[in-house]
Amino acid sequence: MTSQDVIVVGLGAMGSAVAFHLASRGLRVLGVEQYSPAHERGSSHGRSRIIRLAYYESPEYVPLLLRAWELWEELEERSARKLLSRTGALMVGSSESELFRGSLRSATEHDLPHEVLDAQEIRRRFPSLDPPPDTLALYEERAGFIVPEEGVKAHLQLAGSLGAELRFEERLLSWEERDGGVLVETSRGSYGASHLVLAPGPWAPQLLGELGGSLYVERQVMVWFSASCDGLPVIMWEADDGRIFYCIPEGPERIKAALHHGGKRTTPETLDRRVHEEDVEAIKGYLRKYAPALAGALVESSVCMYTNSPDLNFVVGPHPRHPRIILACGFSGHGYKFSGLIGEVTADLVIAGRTGHPIKLFSPARLQLQA
Ligand SMILES: Cc1cc2nc3c(=O)[nH]c(=O)nc-3n(C[C@H](O)[C@H](O)[C@H](O)COP(=O)(O)OP(=O)(O)OC[C@H]3O[C@@H](n4cnc5c(N)ncnc54)[C@H](O)[C@@H]3O)c2cc1C
Repeated sequence: MTSQDVIVVGLGAMGSAVAFHLASRGLRVLGVEQYSPAHERGSSHGRSRIIRLAYYESPEYVPLLLRAWELWEELEERSARKLLSRTGALMVGSSESELFRGSLRSATEHDLPHEVLDAQEIRRRFPSLDPPPDTLALYEERAGFIVPEEGVKAHLQLAGSLGAELRFEERLLSWEERDGGVLVETSRGSYGASHLVLAPGPWAPQLLGELGGSLYVERQVMVWFSASCDGLPVIMWEADDGRIFYCIPEGPERIKAALHHGGKRTTPETLDRRVHEEDVEAIKGYLRKYAPALAGALVESSVCMYTNSPDLNFVVGPHPRHPRIILACGFSGHGYKFSGLIGEVTADLVIAGRTGHPIKLFSPARLQLQA
């Protein structure tokens, strides 16, 4: 048995960031990942993840997002990888939609630079969009997308260069608290440490036992169309039926589109990884209605998973019954943009037992209450 300061399990978006932040503060880190670096079987593949500031979900995320942006910019510079594309973002819906109203609320409460556009102005600025007359949109310039695979590789690369030991194709089988520390069993051996960070993405429900019972995994399909999208921002749109779809202009002739939530409940083992005709049509139908010029030929498709908490806020903090185990899971389909920030917060929790970042929303204790 070898002993480390911290063992990090799962080296996806969150675990890779946690390993980097812990290693950069001088801790001895062992990272364990069941698959290869930046693989496609979890939640952090598919070439683009939206980052924005005027957060419709809740204004409480805005201070975290401001720090998350800084961390992405630092990481891009330190790793010399292209991570960020600054396209701006458009949050579209009726004047009553949660997406538009929530975005405006966050922008107003936090004094974020933004513009409000009506249907005519949306059409004038972005001729490929066809909004109904009562549509409003919040436009913000400080938004765009991150390449998730590159973000994971950047965090792993820097964590490794700072001395973290990163083990791939090795699976955590069990963990327990023992003698004022933690002991873990993996498919290759056993290790001891003072703390354990669990960042298992969609494997959280099974790995957390009773506490994971209220988390659920959702199948999410991404499709790519060939369409002229030069100069388009990232777009999130709340349709008349209340569903949210989004488009990410990954290149001048290539747009990614998907629905946010509403997928079938699944598990990583039973997930249907094939994309079917009806999956594509479900997404394309919204484009035909609201942005017909973007509904081009299908060029690629992929399946991903969301791991949802009951209130769709993250689950980050010490395990309610095992304070040496820090949880970073339940990212509910909107976590990627925060991964560097979650790395920083988790490092604070391991080292000092507390963080200056406002993370009240993320308390793992609420899962216990709901379980
Ligand atoms: C289609 C789609 C679109 C999204 N769009 C956005 C977006 O635009 N903006 C945004 O901010 N977020 C977005 N998200 C959400 C975001 O991508 C996720 O919240 C984030 O990537 C989750 O990271 P993670 O580290 O928790 O999970 P993962 O990256 O999946 O990492 C978990 C890792 O743990 C490993 N693991 C699990 N169990 C074990 C074990 N027992 N032993 C060893 N290793 C183990 C897994 O193999 C995996 O590598 C999207 C997600 C999807 C699926």
